[in-house]
Amino acid sequence: MNEFSIIDKYFSWNCDNSVRVGVGDDCAVIELDSEYQIVTSVDTLIEGVHFSSSNSAADIAYKSLSVNLSDLAAMGAIAKYFTLAISLPRVDEKWLSEFANSLKQIANKYNIDLVGGDTTKGHLSITINVTGFIERGKSLLRSGAKPGDLIFVSNNIGDAAYALRQKQRNEPATLSAMNRLNTPEPRLSLGRSLVGIANSCIDISDGLEQDLSHILNSSKVGARISTDRLPLSKEVSEYIESTGDWCIALAGGDDYELCFSVDKRNKKNVHQIESDLKIKLSEIGVITPNGGLIVDGFSADCSSYRHF
Ligand SMILES: [Mg+2]
Repeated sequence: MNEFSIIDKYFSWNCDNSVRVGVGDDCAVIELDSEYQIVTSVDTLIEGVHFSSSNSAADIAYKSLSVNLSDLAAMGAIAKYFTLAISLPRVDEKWLSEFANSLKQIANKYNIDLVGGDTTKGHLSITINVTGFIERGKSLLRSGAKPGDLIFVSNNIGDAAYALRQKQRNEPATLSAMNRLNTPEPRLSLGRSLVGIANSCIDISDGLEQDLSHILNSSKVGARISTDRLPLSKEVSEYIESTGDWCIALAGGDDYELCFSVDKRNKKNVHQIESDLKIKLSEIGVITPNGGLIVDGFSADCSSYRHF
């Protein structure tokens, strides 16, 4: 099976009618609406670095698109198109069909079209470039946080890091935590709802401490958050209670939840979004004029924790 028949068989899908030319020509051609701006991002996932050989093809596909969609979510964008560059060690049709089916499933779920790509032979790696639209000037940026803003986090944090820890120690994995690690949900609806409400936003890919610090640095502000307000699952909360290991929640990556700041006056809008979308949004602290990130209830340093 050659490159072109792989693309024909597994990666040629029907697209939205704004796609004038999709998979199969030199480039995709897309119709633009002048009221919108393009938002685009790319991520590569490499076997042995971002996932292991024990991960299923379905999970690898899901996560590859999900982590990219999460970046669009963090900007408040509408997901529209993606391209896929995949490097395969060999043509394994069972693997490819599982991968393509799962990719198609998440693409349909989040309403995004595959418009092009590239297939090569080599070590297994997947690069996805996503493109979205945002109303002109409305992107949620890291640079918009203001002193006095309340800081919120969606759902729970630390689950993915906890699952990874279980896996690395060969402990029996908890299904819910493992799902958070292998098939994270991009918070696209939440990102869209925060447009016009949040002053800043980021997705938590590398850990709360590090990602919130990106907001603080870009916005030239500080923040004070508190460990007793961090939203934790029962499992992670019990783990921290018995070990004192707050770093799993503060520095554990891969959760893909959104961390955002809003003016105090918009707090009621956040509660409205919480009930409309049925997603937990926890207030974890406040933006301060300066002073870096202060975490009440925790004084150690998680910086060496990142590659555990
Ligand atoms: Mg990101």
